[in-house]
Amino acid sequence: MTFYAKQDSVHDYLFKIVLIGDSAVGKSNLLARFARNEFYPNSRSTIGIEFQTHKIQINGKEVKAQVWDTADQERFRAVTSAYYRGAVGAVLVYDITRRRTFDNINRWLKELYTHCDMNVVTILVGNKSDLKDEREVSMDEGKSLAEAEGVFFMETSALDSLNVSSAFQMVVKEIYSIFSRKIM
Ligand code: GDP
Ligand code: MG
Repeated sequence: MTFYAKQDSVHDYLFKIVLIGDSAVGKSNLLARFARNEFYPNSRSTIGIEFQTHKIQINGKEVKAQVWDTADQERFRAVTSAYYRGAVGAVLVYDITRRRTFDNINRWLKELYTHCDMNVVTILVGNKSDLKDEREVSMDEGKSLAEAEGVFFMETSALDSLNVSSAFQMVVKEIYSIFSRKIM
């Protein structure tokens, strides 16, 4: 795995994490909620941010999560290898109200493992958990798939700000723990 550690402080780490998943599952809004505590009811490609850095404290150390967003490349199935390069974490998102986005998870995992090390720390995220009446994918289905693939799992709502920080933090903490084991 490639890790990025900033030069100016031994306690300051920077981890690249990629957001992937079908179009309109809520990737950009998860990042907006996590990094800026914002939500965009109608936003799509307008956000167009390449990545956002968000600081997290772990065991008194400052860790920076550099989270990359696709800026809508996925609509054209054109997420580039540059997007994945150097990523040590992945947040793989589907929309619990659209089964097709869940069915495509295997395709995304395959693409992820083509570009990244198999050890890339991954969480499967079922977003839009607030839309209870429109649910098409049960929580158990999400959990089972995550277990089978050996990745973390969480359902989130970017709208209600539910589990969003926890999902990103789970990934960052795991990367940090792997990293600190390696340097000790
Ligand atoms: P992306 O294409 O995966 O980046 O998806 P966006 O973040 O652009 O979101 C697509 C649409 O879903 C937008 O209209 C968002 O407002 C909406 N959305 C995103 N997250 C949630 C959520 O947790 N709950 C609900 N109800 N809508 C959401
Ligand atoms: Mg987006």
